[in-house]
Amino acid sequence: MLILDGVSDRPINGKTPLSEAYTPNLDKLAELGINGIMDTIAPGIRPGSDTAHLALLGYDPFKFYCGRGPIEAAGAGIEVKTGDVAFRVNFATVKGEGSIFEKIVIDRRAGRINDTDELVKAINEEVKIDSDFIFKRGSGHRGALVLRGENLSDKVTDTDPKKIGGRVKKCIALEKGAERTAEIVNDFMQKSHEVLERHPFNIKREREGLLKANALLLRGVGKLFSLPKFEERYGMSLAVISGTILIKGVGRIVGGELIEDSRITGGKDTDLNAKVDLALKALKSYDFVLLHIKACDEYGHDGDFDGKRKFIEKIDKALERILSLDFSEICVVISADHTTPVSVRDHTADPVPLSIVFDQVRKDDVKRYSEFDAYKGGLCRIRGIDLMNIILDLIDKAKKYGA
Ligand code: ZN
Ligand code: ZN
Repeated sequence: MLILDGVSDRPINGKTPLSEAYTPNLDKLAELGINGIMDTIAPGIRPGSDTAHLALLGYDPFKFYCGRGPIEAAGAGIEVKTGDVAFRVNFATVKGEGSIFEKIVIDRRAGRINDTDELVKAINEEVKIDSDFIFKRGSGHRGALVLRGENLSDKVTDTDPKKIGGRVKKCIALEKGAERTAEIVNDFMQKSHEVLERHPFNIKREREGLLKANALLLRGVGKLFSLPKFEERYGMSLAVISGTILIKGVGRIVGGELIEDSRITGGKDTDLNAKVDLALKALKSYDFVLLHIKACDEYGHDGDFDGKRKFIEKIDKALERILSLDFSEICVVISADHTTPVSVRDHTADPVPLSIVFDQVRKDDVKRYSEFDAYKGGLCRIRGIDLMNIILDLIDKAKKYGA
């Protein structure tokens, strides 16, 4: 399953980056397969990348989505367990007198700090709160916090004011029984601030004229509940190849194995050939391989039509070797998790193109991989949650419903 994050678009003067791109390999795959369009979550629902990927793997996001915190924590390499409460974290700079909650955020990224290892270590060693916790760094100013213990609740608010000049927010319980978790979070906020404020690394930064990374802002709270594992559900082992923490996290919470490589960045500079190599290799030892390519979405968020078109052409080149797979043995699915129009610069609910290449599909007349061709295909319009069932049926792994 190849997911081109945000590859589809809304037309500008009748054209999209995908319809304008020169994509002989994607077109060949569309020609060999059956095509259609897909509402990854449901018609009119704007998907997040996380909720959409859950749906594409057959997990109803309305039932199984636990919030961004636990998914990013899992993607960052924390062994998140059922019942854990997790947050996304930003290192930030605050100023003022008094407790952390009286201070003002002057930079939500602490001057785009990148070397947080010493600070992360100090927090894990020196902060003592009424719960076990794991704090791990992510890329740049980012990190993830997992609280572990009995009766923790995710019905609590963020502490990130999400704007410069705002006061750090107190964590508030949103329902009865969540008060203790809110207290633990507030205690963590204050104690981590004290450790960071006096840490020699920050004193040195201040001396050098850099912003101190003296506060942690928490958001995206969620509690991981138990999910049926992909392999138990479908009888297939799952490998995930992605440079994006969020998608790696989705892969991990459904029990998939991550295939990691330093050439995979999750950005515009990723090594597409290396990714395809890894996917082709993974197909030899795993039953199901999810290959996620991120950067089309970034070009969409940037509003960069031409950049997006060129990146699609780069992907197409790297896909040439997919064409030599044996489609009597291997079923290839090519789609996206959502549309990211350059005109909107965010995700929209416009359905995404979908091609399924396999010897046993009923081939249609579609000869081009684009938004305007896909809907003429034999799959018509489906939901993301139906995709796994369709694949399982094609590869003869579906169970009969009824007699
Ligand atoms: Zn996405
Ligand atoms: Zn996006």
